[in-house]
Amino acid sequence: MSWQPINLAVCPCCGFDVARIAPASDGFRVICDMERGGCGAEGGSAKTEPGAVGLWNNDYPSPGAVALTNAALKRVWCWQR
Ligand SMILES: [Zn+2]
Repeated sequence: MSWQPINLAVCPCCGFDVARIAPASDGFRVICDMERGGCGAEGGSAKTEPGAVGLWNNDYPSPGAVALTNAALKRVWCWQR
């Protein structure tokens, strides 16, 4: 498995670009790094780092996303608004 550069989207909760990958109990998840000014939002956990990144980056509304349910869209949990 080769490492690929990962582009993390800005946080959908606070808009800062300080997200990083963190270990989760069952794999990895992307979090908005509070130590760098982020809000601490958490993305969904996945077994692989790219999987966690996908969950984080996919939280953005897109023209095709209207067909998805709200539950499917909610991949990032915001602690504050
Ligand atoms: Zn944030």
